Amino acid sequence: MQNAVVMTLLSALAGTLLSAHSVSAAARGARAAVFGHVGKATVEIYTLSNAHGIEARIMTYGASIVSLKTPDRDGHLQNIVLGFDTLDPYLAGVPYYGATVGRYANRIAQARFTLDGATFNLVANDGPNSLHGGSRGFDKRVWKADATASRNSLKLSYVSTAGEEGYPGQLTVHVTYRLLEDDSLSIEYEATTTAPTPVNLTNHAYFNLSGDPTRSILEHKLTINADKFTPVDATLIPTGELRAVAGTPFDFRSEAVIGSRIDADDAQLNVGHGYDHNWVLNAAHGNALRFAALLADPVSGRALEVRTTQPGLQFYSGNFMNGKQAGQGSVYGYRTGLCLETQHFPDSPNQPTFPSTVLRPGETYAQKTVLNFRTLKTPPN
Ligand code: BGC
Repeated sequence: MQNAVVMTLLSALAGTLLSAHSVSAAARGARAAVFGHVGKATVEIYTLSNAHGIEARIMTYGASIVSLKTPDRDGHLQNIVLGFDTLDPYLAGVPYYGATVGRYANRIAQARFTLDGATFNLVANDGPNSLHGGSRGFDKRVWKADATASRNSLKLSYVSTAGEEGYPGQLTVHVTYRLLEDDSLSIEYEATTTAPTPVNLTNHAYFNLSGDPTRSILEHKLTINADKFTPVDATLIPTGELRAVAGTPFDFRSEAVIGSRIDADDAQLNVGHGYDHNWVLNAAHGNALRFAALLADPVSGRALEVRTTQPGLQFYSGNFMNGKQAGQGSVYGYRTGLCLETQHFPDSPNQPTFPSTVLRPGETYAQKTVLNFRTLKTPPN
């Protein structure tokens, strides 16, 4: 009897050691653990932290942010992104929770594009269009964590084969997360290719700064540093126009409550079922980090500032969230999370007037987005 107990304990210990051993960079500071399996591949989860208790958990499936704890105005740490404690809902197909999205984030019209005279057909997974890299984009791949993982940084890599989801060229992608002592999470993207290909990478975290995922995000306040946005057609493909936000519900140049105009009778809000559009960031080109957006929750006092090298920002107000089970829907309720996806403009491969997204052999794709966590001192009246 006693022997049996000892044997069970020993085999449990062996199991722990084995799974700890299979984690590539457990040792040096970044806390690492096994989160689950996809076929034979092990999915690891890494915990980054800073001296103020801010904590980001990132898993190798989709190079995804699983949770992000930041303080409210009273110092209470709570998770501000929607996510799950186990891998199962992610595998069942919840839509891009916290994930790194690619090879082309956002939509490509009619799931095809022409590059250097050749036409490439992609997988249509959003009506006639290709969305977020196709049926199995970067969000559904197991990335490899670099052995340099530390308490505050993690580099993840993925090699996308030539022809994967219809895209040309083998693309080697790196995403590095750094949780810094100035209370920011920096996300750096890098990619190289063996043949010309469009590339557009973003992170798809759903934020709810209240820390309570049952609350809607409609009371959050938002500022977006953009004079223009890209209006869309009925399938959410940009028409090519860069339209002034002035005088429309898309004007977030001064702070506005998200819910204050979301139900306005506006043709663009109608096609998006709310906000699901790309804003043309002011002076966001080049290598400089520019202010993109400021999101604030007056109740908890949490604020999030987004800076980026990217030219566009897709603000998605969770309009397709429906509270249905994983695999059938988004699990979380209607508009209980919002995405601020820094990226190139949707459908750029088919829109010659938009900034180019083509990466060629010998070039390095490099983009960076920094999320800065702050608190607002004054409670609401
Ligand atoms: C898109 C939405 C889509 C959501 C989840 C967003 O980036 O703009 O239209 O429903 O991702 O798939």
